[in-house]
Amino acid sequence: SPSLLWFRDDLRLADNPAFTALAEAGAPIAGLYVLDEDSPGVRPLGGAARWWLAQSLRALEAALSRRRIPLILRRGPATRVVPDVAAALGAATIAFNDRAGEAEGKVDHGVAARLAAEQRRVLRFCAHLLYPPGSVKGASGRMPRTFSAFQRAALKGRDLAPPLPVPATLSGATHPPPGDTLKDWELEPIRPDWAGGLRTTWDAGEDAALSRLSAFIADGLAGYRDGRDLPAENHVSRLSPYLRFGGISPRQARAAIRHAADAGEIPEADAEKFEAELTWREFSYHLLAEDPQIASRNIQPSFDTFPWRECPGELKAWQKGRTGYPLIDAGLRQLWQTGWMHNRVRMAVASFLTKHLLIDWREGEAWFWDTLVDADPASNPASWQWVAGSGLDAAPYFRIFNPVTQGEKFDPEGAYVRTYVPELAKLPARVIHSPWTADAATLAAAGVRLGATYPRPIVDHAAARARALRAFESTKKT
Ligand code: FAD
Repeated sequence: SPSLLWFRDDLRLADNPAFTALAEAGAPIAGLYVLDEDSPGVRPLGGAARWWLAQSLRALEAALSRRRIPLILRRGPATRVVPDVAAALGAATIAFNDRAGEAEGKVDHGVAARLAAEQRRVLRFCAHLLYPPGSVKGASGRMPRTFSAFQRAALKGRDLAPPLPVPATLSGATHPPPGDTLKDWELEPIRPDWAGGLRTTWDAGEDAALSRLSAFIADGLAGYRDGRDLPAENHVSRLSPYLRFGGISPRQARAAIRHAADAGEIPEADAEKFEAELTWREFSYHLLAEDPQIASRNIQPSFDTFPWRECPGELKAWQKGRTGYPLIDAGLRQLWQTGWMHNRVRMAVASFLTKHLLIDWREGEAWFWDTLVDADPASNPASWQWVAGSGLDAAPYFRIFNPVTQGEKFDPEGAYVRTYVPELAKLPARVIHSPWTADAATLAAAGVRLGATYPRPIVDHAAARARALRAFESTKKT
């Protein structure tokens, strides 16, 4: 009898332990993807992530069909849908890779229990992470509280297994039960079609992920350690949406980078820095396992009394990239146009929202959740809390990014700003991060009219900084 492979955040054929296990067992395979927007507590995907999911499923469907394996699409609570499909297929064995998160864990457990009650064999694996949640522990038995301690504990005494190849011998199930079409799910926008910038920026799917990784190793990884801070340069991998939905596994990325470093193709320091960034992802997932509410609750309870401001107008200006600070506006426009933002700028815009505007980090987290193609249930809230100061091993609250000096340091020629804030493109580099300091002739020559073609700053940096420090002091006292 056939086997059922339930795909989750692992939309690939290589290094997919559930897939390999079924292929080795030899029975014909059918794939299943369940769009589950009904199970309690499972956070529905945001708009950009839904778009990414649609592209990834299309690529997966094509890759499977080249191997004559059908992909069944179904919608509904997984605890009902997976057993239903297994019964309709007559599957003796069902394999899947677990998802992280409390609600997702309950779903996995519920599915496995129902299948077992129906006398079906269930095979479960961990494929989304290098270190299964809860496996990296400090002396206390809990996860280490600082990133560096986490990294030390993670690396200690561990040899990571090499990634699995795409299984060689495969056969597909011949009479799969009917399913939906991708179109039925309306994952992609129609009216208005806001996904044009996403389409021109990205190619989703496993093949695209592997090409991205090779291109990054060939051109970008050497120089990563320092270059990763420069948003106009080509020194980051842009693998995040693939890692999020499993077009590639962290093990594949890590192994390829290690191989390049061991072969002397790239400097060791760059490989180590990249591995450390992958470990930040693991740190976030460990945190999510310990504290499933990280997207809604302060990790540091002292922040529960923080005097956040309600100001929809300023939030809107931030979302639209109209704060009057060019680096901040460039970042938010890059996000809106392409569904992705460079890490250095993510930190700057998150700091600006939570410190300059004193707007609750949850507002920013929700905006990112809706607009990022890599919107991640662990890395997004953990990073927001890290910047806001309410997180684990967080940046100290008083470290308030100055959006002008950040721009001057990391985008010295203004190339990044010129790309995403074209109305400032003709300004000379010395004033591009602070157009209000330019004299009238310079502004006129560049065609910039402050307050008309480009906004004046919505807050004054020095005053906003002082206000943020006062707010923090007041919280400490309560
Ligand atoms: P690279 O520099 O090439 O890094 C390789 C991989 O390592 C990334 O793809 C990612 O999986 C991981 N990684 C790198 N930096 C981090 C980090 N600081 N924390 C966790 N993982 C990291 N990352 C997401 O994947 N999804 C999110 O929703 C997300 N939200 C963020 C929100 C804020 C406010 C901030 C400051 C950061 C956020 N990050 C998030 C982390 C980081 O910005 C992105 O992972 C990175 O910019 C992705 O680009 P890249 O793939 O080119 O990264």
